[in-house]
Amino acid sequence: MNSEQDMALQQEKFRQQFLKIQSEKGVYLGEYKERVLAGLTKSQIIEDDIYPEIIACLKDKRAYLLKMSRDVELKKLKPYITEAENHKLKYQLVDGLEYVGEIGLVVVAKEALSENIENIIIRDMDQDFIDAGLGEVFSKNRGRKIDAECYEKVEELLPEHLGDFKKLNFFDRLIGRKCPICGK
Ligand SMILES: [Zn+2]
Repeated sequence: MNSEQDMALQQEKFRQQFLKIQSEKGVYLGEYKERVLAGLTKSQIIEDDIYPEIIACLKDKRAYLLKMSRDVELKKLKPYITEAENHKLKYQLVDGLEYVGEIGLVVVAKEALSENIENIIIRDMDQDFIDAGLGEVFSKNRGRKIDAECYEKVEELLPEHLGDFKKLNFFDRLIGRKCPICGK
């Protein structure tokens, strides 16, 4: 290989590397992947309760910025913003249109992390329910009153989440409340 070819090859390598980094930055709301401590997708923020993993991450001493997409309504971001304020972290809302993908929130460190974080995106809360065979419908109705039959299913298949539900009682029935999961 002559030096000209070699140079072209080098340039192509740099170009590929540059493109890879740019596309990663597009995914992580403009941040370098190696600085991202944790993230959530937009649907995780919108549909689920507050993720304790993110709250814990905001306390991490490497964390310095909480960056969020404006695609998500502020009300849903507020608990994370409050936590960031409590720990004197900067936070920033960015225009979602500039970025690709589903990510709605990232916690960013000031410098590249020494270790490689395998799963930047926190495991979806719904996944426990899906894995247990209950399905997303149970997960999405956490905090609500459900009928005895559905309650027993949780007790049997996912007892660690039983506290997420209450049982419909006599008075609920009297005013015509139904189970949001099965409709009975
Ligand atoms: Zn039910």
